[in-house]
Amino acid sequence: MQIADRLTNIPPYLFMELRKKINKAKADGIDVISLAIGDPVEATPDSIIDELCARAKDPENHRYPIDEEKGMLAFRQEVARWYHSRYGVSLDPGSEVLGLIGSKEGCHHFVLARINPGDIVLMTDPGYPAYRASILMGGGEPYNVPILAENRYLPVFEDIPTDIAKKARGMFLNYPNNPTGACATRVFFDRLVDFARQFDIAVCYDNPYSEILFEGQERLSFLMAEGAKEVGIELNSLSKPFNMCGWRIGMAAGNPDLIAAVSKVKENSDSGIFNPIQYAGIHALKHEARFIEDMLSIYEKRREMVLKALGKIGIVFDAPKGTFYLWVPVPKGMTSLEFTNRLFDKAAVVVAAGTAYGQYGEGYIRISLTVPDNRLAEAMARIEREFA
Ligand SMILES: *Cc1c(COP(=O)(O)O)cnc(C)c1O
Repeated sequence: MQIADRLTNIPPYLFMELRKKINKAKADGIDVISLAIGDPVEATPDSIIDELCARAKDPENHRYPIDEEKGMLAFRQEVARWYHSRYGVSLDPGSEVLGLIGSKEGCHHFVLARINPGDIVLMTDPGYPAYRASILMGGGEPYNVPILAENRYLPVFEDIPTDIAKKARGMFLNYPNNPTGACATRVFFDRLVDFARQFDIAVCYDNPYSEILFEGQERLSFLMAEGAKEVGIELNSLSKPFNMCGWRIGMAAGNPDLIAAVSKVKENSDSGIFNPIQYAGIHALKHEARFIEDMLSIYEKRREMVLKALGKIGIVFDAPKGTFYLWVPVPKGMTSLEFTNRLFDKAAVVVAAGTAYGQYGEGYIRISLTVPDNRLAEAMARIEREFA
């Protein structure tokens, strides 16, 4: 069967070859430890699960979602309250907030809502691979903006060629950043708003790690910037802060025209989020903020464990303070892939090669902290042994 070009143009999944090797190793009885994927292993808090179960018993909730495409008003109101209490951002739940089936869905729908065939959409290199896929599926043309350690992994807008900026209609950004862990600043937000205004570029600020911060790093929303709502939307998600990756619930907030456009896409594709999941989401935002603190102290300990182990084998670096990933420079004289392969072949430890996130990921690997403490400790012990 012939498959549409829009799909065949999407680069193959970069972990594919690695996955084959992993499956073979497992079949051979090798104890493989994967530090490659960002997906919390600890359970969603009980109270959120209880809310889901109770709501699922009410037949009213078996019908199409309430308020269909925008998500139920009570959920949107709770998102607005959350944004106000966590970030000091004021949102109108009626026109500036939208429920999503995860922030990844928002990335995809943002392109459908804003981009015409052939329009350029800016994204960072390294960056989250789903942006490229969303841009290609929506008929846009991805353009990679390098983000470098020397600029704290923030794009330098002056370095983007003017002819490209003029043709660009959208831009994906994501700080705290997957994969580098880098965080944005308020000054950066101001520059971003200026740049977006100057070239009429709609910003899709993907912020699912807004709560995953260490060492006193300030919690930030792009919508805190003056003028942000004129130029874009912010996507956020309950996946990472509440260990709800599988539940598929998130939100978009910001520019009312874009929110309305994304709602129109949803109205014509998915009809919204299962009501009990929306109720559970309300419950999470309302009652489980403290759970995030508990998770952060778990990640903090793991982060220290990894940094200490890496220090012992001579890898010392100034780790950015966001996300549950560590973006680790590879030992001198090795490529990302060589280091990744050596960790796998000699220590049965799987990490993500930096080049899976773009060419500027060369020289790095990404380690995820979403693994049980004892498995992470075992992985670090193996790495220390191999590189001692
Ligand atoms: C995990 C992740 C997402 C996906 O979030 P969902 O809400 O689960 O869809 C989106 N963007 C980035 C950068 C991520 O790392």
